[in-house]
Amino acid sequence: NFSAQDLLAYLKNVVHVMEENKDYLCELDRKLGDGDHGVTMSIGWQAVNEKLEHELKEESDCSRICITTGRTFLSAVGSSVGPLYATGFLKGAKAIQNKSELTEEDLKNFWIEFIKGIKERGQAEVGDKTMVDTLHPALESLSAYENNMSFVEYFTKTVLSAKQGMESTKDLLSKRGRSSRLGERSIGNQDPGATSAYLMLETFLQTLK
Ligand code: ADP
Ligand code: MG
Ligand code: MG
Repeated sequence: NFSAQDLLAYLKNVVHVMEENKDYLCELDRKLGDGDHGVTMSIGWQAVNEKLEHELKEESDCSRICITTGRTFLSAVGSSVGPLYATGFLKGAKAIQNKSELTEEDLKNFWIEFIKGIKERGQAEVGDKTMVDTLHPALESLSAYENNMSFVEYFTKTVLSAKQGMESTKDLLSKRGRSSRLGERSIGNQDPGATSAYLMLETFLQTLK
């Protein structure tokens, strides 16, 4: 089972991964938007880190951990991804209410609700060149999970689908967010939000292992 401490460890890992990828995410966003995606993610996750080091340190309720993460991210981040990732965590929290230990079924449901929340909030479709291109294939993959193999093994496949989705954004024309203003010129560059969404999932896989 996945404990509240494991969840806290996951969030801590995301803090590090976003810090490591800060320049890379900004570089991707310079080609498509206003160049701040790495900074945005860093600001949001550093704010979450503050909570991880203090009030969340001993928290054993997984849903409360996710609610605080979502709210903290939202109040720290001004750009498009603030409400998107915040909604993911808040919706995900509802799938794991009052739980201090998460089963494989809980983890599956958490991610399904996380992704559905982002899709509902942002209203982007697959092919619009956003984080949804990474997240939707993961949602499809997880929805088909039936305890017939270990969750870690299955999530490895989930992350592979997400990676293909992320890479598909390179050749897409943007229809959402700031990059949509570029029209044809948005083709040829990988979407920054699709990349950070992949990092979120990949880091979860690394935490599971
Ligand atoms: P901003 O564009 O406000 O500077 P960021 O640079 O932090 O925000 O994030 C940009 C990313 O947000 C894009 O790469 C895209 O993946 C994602 N995004 C923008 N609008 C939407 C949307 N409606 N639904 C899903 N993702 C979106
Ligand atoms: Mg930006
Ligand atoms: Mg911005």
